[in-house]
Amino acid sequence: MNKLLRTAQSLLFERQGTLTRELLREPGGFGLGQVPSRLKPDTTTTAVCGFCSTGCGLDIHLKGDQVVNLTPAKDYPVNLGMACPKGWEALTPLKAKDRATTPMLKNDSGQLRPVDWPLALSTFVQRMKAIQGKYGEESCAFLSTGQIPSEEMFFLGSLAKFGMGMQHGDGNTRQCMATAVVAYKQAFGFDAPPYTYADFEESDVLVFVGANPCIAHPILWERVCRNRHQPEIVVVDPRRTETAMAATLHVSLKPKSDLCLFYGVARALIARGAIQSDYIAAHTEGFDAFRAHVENFNEERVLAETGLERAVFERLVTAIEKGKRVSFWWTMGVNQSYEGVKVAQALINLALMTGNIGRPGTGANSITGQCNAMGSRLFSNTTNLLGGHSFEDPVHREKVASALGVPETRIPRSGSLAYDQILEQIHRGKIKGLWIIATNTAHSWINQADARALLGRLEFLVVQDMFVTTETAELAHLVLPAAGWGEKDGTFINSERRLMLLKKVARAPGQALSDFQIFRLLAEAWGVGEMFEKFREPEDVFHAMRAVSRGQPCDISGITGYEMIDRLRGVQWPLREGEAVEERSERRLFEDGRFFTQSGRAKFIFADPRPIPEAITKKYPLVLLTGRGTSAQWHTQTRTAKSPVLRKLYSPDPYVEINPKDARELGVNPGQWVTVESARGKMRARAHVTQIVSPGQVFIPMHYPETNLLTFPAFDEESRQPSYKHAAVRVLPSASV
Ligand code: SF4
Repeated sequence: MNKLLRTAQSLLFERQGTLTRELLREPGGFGLGQVPSRLKPDTTTTAVCGFCSTGCGLDIHLKGDQVVNLTPAKDYPVNLGMACPKGWEALTPLKAKDRATTPMLKNDSGQLRPVDWPLALSTFVQRMKAIQGKYGEESCAFLSTGQIPSEEMFFLGSLAKFGMGMQHGDGNTRQCMATAVVAYKQAFGFDAPPYTYADFEESDVLVFVGANPCIAHPILWERVCRNRHQPEIVVVDPRRTETAMAATLHVSLKPKSDLCLFYGVARALIARGAIQSDYIAAHTEGFDAFRAHVENFNEERVLAETGLERAVFERLVTAIEKGKRVSFWWTMGVNQSYEGVKVAQALINLALMTGNIGRPGTGANSITGQCNAMGSRLFSNTTNLLGGHSFEDPVHREKVASALGVPETRIPRSGSLAYDQILEQIHRGKIKGLWIIATNTAHSWINQADARALLGRLEFLVVQDMFVTTETAELAHLVLPAAGWGEKDGTFINSERRLMLLKKVARAPGQALSDFQIFRLLAEAWGVGEMFEKFREPEDVFHAMRAVSRGQPCDISGITGYEMIDRLRGVQWPLREGEAVEERSERRLFEDGRFFTQSGRAKFIFADPRPIPEAITKKYPLVLLTGRGTSAQWHTQTRTAKSPVLRKLYSPDPYVEINPKDARELGVNPGQWVTVESARGKMRARAHVTQIVSPGQVFIPMHYPETNLLTFPAFDEESRQPSYKHAAVRVLPSASV
């Protein structure tokens, strides 16, 4: 151990007492130890993948105490021996040269320079407290992620809100799942995706809306391919995506006409008598008002607004009418919309009125995005009080306070501002200190130039991340070096509500620590170490998650600990104390027709479609669609771009898909550099001339750093989710950026 580390340790011993001393003795703390003692040398262990929400099991192979490689786990109930390219390359980013290996503090010249942990911790505390002292506790906030384990989210949310007095904190899951959360809460009484992956194999009609599982969730598409019922596979999407090409029916509607379409489908099904009146009467409420509402969406209106041919519309209606087990699946094409909650609820309505819920092969099913999007939804203390509780409910506050042993008075009486509202408060000068954990706001946020300018206005920006080179870390005053997937323990919750283990199989480089360890140090440095003294290991937090979940729809009190999750290859929630569960079981919700609303009935919820926030104009005559461009890259590429293999599977140059008709009219040739411009910014891209997009539309993958220079900052009013999928742009045949 070098002198720097010894100095850091001794300083920490002096300043922060016993907890810190114990922390630094832990395997992985400041380079001590290699892998946890529970992993035997020369062994293979199974851990869940750390990219998307599918939750594939990966067998990680160790030689001695060193990781050598991984293979997809053959007997894992999620992926059945398969993995996408990202999963195969999951270990590669850990060895990247730009890992954050020491805390970095910006000096007077504006350059980030290495400092020791004691200085980093004391700087964090002094500057955040100074801001709070000057402007009030609400002047500091945090932005978190769907990429860290639930235990770390739980600790962060508790420390920031109950310990540090930060009322406002949100996650990047606002960018992907907030719409589904609100839609489910309002309709079902709880954020409860009802399905299990077996439903992909059980359906005879699968309707994918704004979803491209062939590349966004390729292992889930493999599950569809295992379906033996020769299903009708419908894709509702303006683009002819990879999934649309493989589907039996592509419903290529005009962008953002989906709400009109689904109300029209509901009307047509009612007119044909293709509804389950007994189910509606026994298990739902609000159907009569819904029926009156959809009367306004006759076939002529639907065809005019969606641009569909009559035969396509009628085939969609017939598929749902004739299907015995119809499932509706949606992802970001629905969620990332200014009226996404209502579109999601329109799909829920279709499932309810046709009785397609609670049975094998059915459901109104939101596929989540990030590896722990659902952990963030339930256990991060951002959208809800821990465990799906409400900050506004005094009974809930008391329950959570008592389960955690924190004073009830430390729990805020109201929820947090959403991500966009936190940025808005920076704009207004109300938020001055921001702590960003494992997300890359300066790349991924909508209308990027504005977001970067706002981050630049902060008096103190802390970024806690694996890498010092992210666009956001480069703007930080202080960078805290964090361990990544594979370097820490905890649990993720996948799309089908399955809790799975990730495992520490490698040591974080240099002085990087797990986020869990960083939170322990910060709790101590802030002076609230005692409040969290029970949180010595991630599994201690897991038991706190069990305690707060008790009696909730997401009750996990029956999961006794990590050993049980490991042995059973993951466990879906709920599992109440005393309930039995089989190994590799797959369970769905609402089989008894009872929902989590007060009445026990699901609700039909609806509204009129709203105008598109940024319509095309003469100057900007094309609609920009954005989305996932490849199964080989993940979001802002901070990890996946480190893999030479994954880089080869994806164009290094930004590209824009443009229809041949538009290309001809613009004088654009395939492969040439063009400029794509919106009212907010412009970028260079190579023209990919293709029928995948319809005339009048262009598509750019979200992974490129420039893409969000173009996007328009509209938000769903109920979920506050950004509407990434529609902006007005023009294409210029010269690359003039
Ligand atoms: S990224 Fe998703 S689909 Fe790919 S291996 Fe990981 S969990 Fe599976």
